[in-house]
Amino acid sequence: MSNATKRKQGSSKAKEVSFSNGRLNSTASCDVLGSYEKILLFVNRTLLPITLMMLTPNLVMILWHTATKFEGSLSACLSALFENGFRVIWTEVTICSPLALSIIFGYGAWAMLAMKLLPGKKVEGPVTPKGNVPVYTDNGFTYFLLTMTLLALIEVFLQSRGMSVSIVYDKFGDILATLNILSFLFCGVLYIKGKTSPSTTDSGSSGNIIFDYYWGMELYPRIFGIDIKMFTNCRFGMMSWALLVTIFCIKNYQIYGFVDSNFVSTTLQLVYITKFFWWEAGYLRTIDIMLDRAGFYICWGCLVFVPGFYTVVSMYMVNHRVQLGAIKAACILLAGLVSIAINYLADMQKQEVRGTNGKCLVWGKKPELIRATYTLETGEKKQSLLLVSGWWGLSRHFHYIPEILLAACWSVPALFYNYMPYAYVTHLFILLTHRSYRDDDKCGKKYGPFWDKYRKKVPNRIIPYIF
Ligand code: NDP
Repeated sequence: MSNATKRKQGSSKAKEVSFSNGRLNSTASCDVLGSYEKILLFVNRTLLPITLMMLTPNLVMILWHTATKFEGSLSACLSALFENGFRVIWTEVTICSPLALSIIFGYGAWAMLAMKLLPGKKVEGPVTPKGNVPVYTDNGFTYFLLTMTLLALIEVFLQSRGMSVSIVYDKFGDILATLNILSFLFCGVLYIKGKTSPSTTDSGSSGNIIFDYYWGMELYPRIFGIDIKMFTNCRFGMMSWALLVTIFCIKNYQIYGFVDSNFVSTTLQLVYITKFFWWEAGYLRTIDIMLDRAGFYICWGCLVFVPGFYTVVSMYMVNHRVQLGAIKAACILLAGLVSIAINYLADMQKQEVRGTNGKCLVWGKKPELIRATYTLETGEKKQSLLLVSGWWGLSRHFHYIPEILLAACWSVPALFYNYMPYAYVTHLFILLTHRSYRDDDKCGKKYGPFWDKYRKKVPNRIIPYIF
């Protein structure tokens, strides 16, 4: 059990079978399941995870192949791959090349060291279903600023020797392939750790090894005091996004000089990621952290999918010279910045209301609240606030709208020659729609009648009056 986590009950070795928040207790329930439920369970816990684990690593490699070999034309890339075989996406790269290994391990070591050593105040995450309260050091913003400064210094140093950080773009295929393999292994380590020595009581097996590997064994694993999800999600994944879009922008500049579409897209992505690190303590109270266990889904997702897929617009733009002109560029930039502001204000509104126990103003008025009680798996009763006014009164996930609009704003500068730059916004649309259902499900189980009351008062999931 990590020192940084306050345990409030039981032995950490307990092998709970059920998942948090009232999810199905698989081994206990299998005997009583009908054949329909058994098929559903097989699809959700075996078939889908296997399919995703096979497809997504190839998807990021295909996108890289599309950007570098087919000028961003996904259809041209796919037809060539169908004709000549998909193997080339793996055979044309060098897995575990010395450079790729040095970059990945160097960057990972820096992220871990900074997490441990940089100063920051202690912040508590939300109480878990088992009654644990994870504690973090809030040093993400300092880490972000230091890392970006370090990148600038490395670029100056390399340029003085006739080189550039843009070598990361040139060798990104090798890096991505290596990251893929290492992350699969890393998730294996997490599985074994979760099985043999879980950090907290928020852990346990579903009884299905494939699902356990995919979904994870532990909610808050810590290794040598390092919180794994904070490392994978924030310090490795989100930071790699900022670094890569900057590096890809430098590469684009080296090829074409100043390209305003790239400037708009890179600026919006960097402002968004800066906001993310500024608000990192708030992120620790989101679904990624509260609900998703540390398995392939979230950890591989942050270690590989974020650098390989979230950067897709910038990756595409390296080899494209789209000049928008000052007016179009300014309009898109402004729309994107407004979207970031609304998304941030909505996230902060919820945080402020809870942080002040409702003693604050929401849009200039006393907030409308539901004081919801819920019971932990330990039997302990807790209370929480559900905000019914402000952004949270428009719809239950109104803040997903500016999130999607923003992604559209940093994609649209690429214009409409190819689909590739719209891959991220399409993914985000699906992800957030699905997430609104997942969150409803989670909150319904947690708050019961209080959530029903909120749903009655705020009937729409995302789009007011429509959805
Ligand atoms: P949310 O910010 O939607 O938070 C959901 C949680 O907030 C719920 O589980 C519940 O937690 C609490 N909650 C729900 N309704 C209310 C309410 N009315 N009042 C008070 N608390 C409430 O979580 P997400 O993780 O989906 O999103 C966080 C941010 O991350 C957003 O800005 C989102 O746009 C962004 N995001 C970005 C993604 C990307 O890939 N770019 C992907 C996903 C999210 P509790 O148990 O504490 O009550």
